[in-house]
Amino acid sequence: MKSHDENDVASGGSQQAWCRDYKGREYSYEEFLKMAEEFHGFGAPGLVIGGAMVGLALRHLPEGCIFNAVCETGKCLPDAIQILTLCSTGNEWMKVSDYGRFALSFYDKYTGEGVRVFLDSSKLGDYPELKNWFFRLVPKKEQNFQLLMKNIRDAHESILGAHRVTVPVKSGHKDGPKKILTCPECGEAYPESDSDLCAACGGESYYSQE
Ligand SMILES: [Zn+2]
Repeated sequence: MKSHDENDVASGGSQQAWCRDYKGREYSYEEFLKMAEEFHGFGAPGLVIGGAMVGLALRHLPEGCIFNAVCETGKCLPDAIQILTLCSTGNEWMKVSDYGRFALSFYDKYTGEGVRVFLDSSKLGDYPELKNWFFRLVPKKEQNFQLLMKNIRDAHESILGAHRVTVPVKSGHKDGPKKILTCPECGEAYPESDSDLCAACGGESYYSQE
């Protein structure tokens, strides 16, 4: 296991802004909260923290770096990445690898060199409501939401950790695009596989139909 004790990425940059986007535009806490509400439906605590995480990660990428993202949880954090960068699940520049850890990595799409930012659970001591929420120590209805958001705002980047990472990148075009076949069962198109049927007709369908 690699220790997170020595963060080899120094913090820096503007402390006024809550976060920034990939173009370098900065947003205050209130501005980002509004963007979060519009995109996500509400200003979820994880998404608000996520904004600060994205901002921190972006500050540690070289200027003009074309980067991809890996998000280690499917909850909230992917939306912070989608709001503040061009990486989305739809353009496949963001991959959600659900390790269940509240962390993300941005890395140079060609060299694989980048930065990983995580919520450092050892730094939550001064923020009891945030700790309760993060570790689910208190049932949701007993949580103090106002205090939680105040904890988040006060803590800002102080609860984050960051370190450099290298993510393996695909070199060249070893596998060309797969052939598209027509499934004899449903008649819909699917990418060539070992099976003669599409994955859904092969037994992996997510729905039933009368
Ligand atoms: Zn089919």
